[in-house]
Amino acid sequence: MIVRFRDKEYAAPDGSVSFFDFLKGLGAFDKEIIAVKTGGELLDLSSPLREGSLEPVYINSAEGTHILRHSAAHVMAEAVKELFPEAKVTIGPAIETGFYYDFDYEPGFTEEDLPRIEERMQAIIDKDIPITRRVVPKKEAVELFHGMGEPFKVELISAIPDEQVSLYTQDGFTDFCRGPHLPSTGRIPAFKLLSLAGAYWRGDEKNKMLTRIYGTAFPSAEALQEHLKFLEEVRKRDHRRLGRELDLFSISDEVGAGLVIYHPSGALLRYILEDFEKKEHLKRGYQFVIGPQILKVDLWKKSGHYENYRENMYFTKVDDVEYGLKPMNCVAHIMVYKSQIRSYRDLPLRYFELGTVNRHELSGVLHGLMRVREFTQDDAHIFCRQDQLHDEINSIASFVADVMGIFGFDYELEISTRPKEHFIGRIEDWDKAERILKSVLDDRSIPYDINEGDGAFYGPKIDVKLKDALGRKWQCATIQLDFALPERFDLHYTDKDSRRKRPVMLHRVILGAMERFIGILIEHYAGRFPLWLSPLQVLILTITDEQAAYAEELRQMLADADIRVEVDGRNEKLGFKIREGTMRKVPYMLILGRKEAETRTISVRGRDGAEMKGVSAAEFIERAKEENTSRR
Ligand SMILES: [Zn+2]
Ligand SMILES: [Zn+2]
Repeated sequence: MIVRFRDKEYAAPDGSVSFFDFLKGLGAFDKEIIAVKTGGELLDLSSPLREGSLEPVYINSAEGTHILRHSAAHVMAEAVKELFPEAKVTIGPAIETGFYYDFDYEPGFTEEDLPRIEERMQAIIDKDIPITRRVVPKKEAVELFHGMGEPFKVELISAIPDEQVSLYTQDGFTDFCRGPHLPSTGRIPAFKLLSLAGAYWRGDEKNKMLTRIYGTAFPSAEALQEHLKFLEEVRKRDHRRLGRELDLFSISDEVGAGLVIYHPSGALLRYILEDFEKKEHLKRGYQFVIGPQILKVDLWKKSGHYENYRENMYFTKVDDVEYGLKPMNCVAHIMVYKSQIRSYRDLPLRYFELGTVNRHELSGVLHGLMRVREFTQDDAHIFCRQDQLHDEINSIASFVADVMGIFGFDYELEISTRPKEHFIGRIEDWDKAERILKSVLDDRSIPYDINEGDGAFYGPKIDVKLKDALGRKWQCATIQLDFALPERFDLHYTDKDSRRKRPVMLHRVILGAMERFIGILIEHYAGRFPLWLSPLQVLILTITDEQAAYAEELRQMLADADIRVEVDGRNEKLGFKIREGTMRKVPYMLILGRKEAETRTISVRGRDGAEMKGVSAAEFIERAKEENTSRR
């Protein structure tokens, strides 16, 4: 057989030669190679050589690291079985940044077990035990795992259609797995167990709750350390934790999963964002509209939501008529369009609403503010002529660029095209829409990726993925083109030639869901919002009661200048008050003592600890106003 490797062809013998033997024979093997890829398939180094082009897989490549992590999951399972023989093994895949393994273990594991398991894993790694593969008839594998008392494995193997299954063994530990794996346990350079979680068998809440152990592994100790530092930063910035510390919001079982209550500071933050949004929309020629929370089911049938989105909707009956709670704001905006006869001169019409929607998301995907069941979108629908489409999409792209710039976000764009099933409208309209979206981005010279088949059911879209301070990507703004709803609701306008024509509709959000965007902002700024977004901008601290009158006078001056200010006039030590203000991450603390009151000045303490003494109130207000309006 012929094997192609690094642009050369080799005649290789059929039979017992492995990939490893072949590479070694050529002098092309090094320790960083842990598997091979041929014919698009990843295989063990020990697998028999195959015809075709051969590519070595290095441990520090994406595929190599995936294999490393999956192998670390096996080593973890072996360690757990040695320490807790009663634990039953289930599944243990590699995931994006690590791996996990789910165990059925009645007492459950605790955080204290993790170092013990790590220690045992290290011992297995130090022994450098070969990881070997063998293929056996399915029946034999079922009997094997049945004999080992592993019912979950028996269930998994029984469910697959294949006649033969592959097993991987290291030491006395055997797992049912497709592979490939590292050649031996000693090839795991660096790993760490991270956390525990509950997980239902096969992800179904009707099934048994298992214990999941998360871990990660990296090709080098340095890369692992860097990742652990990143995780620590993520933990420190977690919006659920900061949300509690800054008393911004709460989500509780008592109220209901995925339902947010904004506390005073959080509600203020949201109003600040909403004010900003309203002004920006008015500036750009949008009109405000407001629709109801529930609309008759007939409208949802007409819109296609009932057919395509029903599982995510809530329904209720009023006077024996069925209503649907809105999962999107489109329908009411369409009714506004339909309320009058429209001429070509009226277009484009841009309707904006801070629209609250309800969607039934599965409880397992809910996550703080990032994924909730009720949220408010900065939603707009633009009705325009075909010939206006390009300009409208272009001005939305500018809008996105302006707003992302204000928050300091870089972003990437993706165009999502027609889904394979579950779409409404004509294929030629979809093709046309996709061409227009691409041409706008091409004209702006913005690079983008294509997400084949990932469009909404009513049209293709541009998704904006912003990158936060930690380099994580979040999907926020979208621009969705829609040829279908105007048709379903029979929208039209009278054109120049007096003929009735169909408008095109654009659905778009800039920040997306306010809840999610606030969650992202909290993590992006680590709770240290820029002045213009800070719920409390200035905290006045008195040193003794004698400064109370001056503090009140100053508070009034700042409030009159539209600066959000509070006075901490409590009879507490200054150090204590400063510590509290620091915890609240207030941008400026103004410290008033006897000297300041006498000289009518203030001492300004910035959030970074920098202090300025002897500043006049007028000077401080001027600077704060400037910082506020420039949104630095
Ligand atoms: Zn495996
Ligand atoms: Zn819409």
